[in-house]
Amino acid sequence: MVLLTRRADFSASHFYYDDALSEAENVRLFGKCANRNGHGHNYTLEVTVAGAVDPVSGFVVDLKRLKEIIQQEVVAVYDHRHLNLEVPEFKTAMPTTENIAIAIWRRLENKIDGAKLTRVRVYEMPDLYADYCGEA
Ligand SMILES: [Zn+2]
Repeated sequence: MVLLTRRADFSASHFYYDDALSEAENVRLFGKCANRNGHGHNYTLEVTVAGAVDPVSGFVVDLKRLKEIIQQEVVAVYDHRHLNLEVPEFKTAMPTTENIAIAIWRRLENKIDGAKLTRVRVYEMPDLYADYCGEA
């Protein structure tokens, strides 16, 4: 079995706010990330699949096809979007890096013919904001 990783990047905005909590509790828990106007990040995504190498093609999976699937299922939906307001799965789940990774897993699972989705890694880059969210 061979592991194969493909990287993709997208930019999106989000905020962390739980309506069940008070304003003060949201600020205590999420710091400046609780600002409902949102803020942006550049995200890096790594998708790892596992499978056997096809003896004819030499591929586990065609990287061009894997790129297309990631583009169609994730980048086209998340890139330059406000995750809280525009992406269905974050209407009910906080768009933390952890929940983004779970949502991406669900979007990609069973979509990659001939290989098994093995790992989804999401990095939140702080370019547009001084700190990583979660370090409030
Ligand atoms: Zn953030």
